[in-house]
Amino acid sequence: MERTFRVMRCDPEKDKKPYLQEYQVSARDGMTVLEGLFYIQRRLDPSLAFRFSCRGSVCGSCAMNINGRNRLGCETQVSSLKGVIKVRPLGHFKVLRDLVVELDGFWEKYRRVRPYLIPSSLPPEKERLQSPEERGRIGDTADCILCANCHGSCTVTGTDSEYLGPAALLKTDRFLRDSRDVAGDERIRIVDGVHGIWRCHTILSCQDVCPKELSPTSSIMDMRKRLVRKRGNDGR
Ligand code: SF4
Repeated sequence: MERTFRVMRCDPEKDKKPYLQEYQVSARDGMTVLEGLFYIQRRLDPSLAFRFSCRGSVCGSCAMNINGRNRLGCETQVSSLKGVIKVRPLGHFKVLRDLVVELDGFWEKYRRVRPYLIPSSLPPEKERLQSPEERGRIGDTADCILCANCHGSCTVTGTDSEYLGPAALLKTDRFLRDSRDVAGDERIRIVDGVHGIWRCHTILSCQDVCPKELSPTSSIMDMRKRLVRKRGNDGR
């Protein structure tokens, strides 16, 4: 069955502004949007640029805007979409070419929250054990694949370039919940500010578009409560 793809194209070195280009894709059963883009690139237009890697919803590389919603191209079935399939790059990021965006700012914010375990001692010979209850407290906050769908849909990241954003804040919560981590005070200090947890407008667009059904907003609310409790205990 023929399906129409309308894809945002832009080569900033020669195009004054982005434009939409239409392609007719011969869609087979089970075809994903990412496979549709491969079809275009291999059979119709080799100049089309997009990112991908695992093709199995694990790496997050093929995050893009499909029919107005940020999704992973590799897990979005063509048959689940009605009418023309419109594919655009993620919002709030500079376009490097076509569907490929500049993610340096996203990674810089991620690095700022120190997204790794900070333990009190050197690594043991085997591993740092946790009880099932301790692991349970981390919950699904460890499941983020860093696709940036949430960052690209957040209304605040679109207006405040300094805002840490949902993915970096979720990661902070993930380590605050970890019984093996001892850097809680420092982590809270990093996110306690006008460009951190207090900037979120709780619009929930991050959790709407998360392919892993995570809720950065809930993490942000938990950290706010934690901080308010701490200030209460400190008598501030
Ligand atoms: Fe992607 Fe979800 Fe992680 Fe945001 S929280 S980067 S949408 S996996």
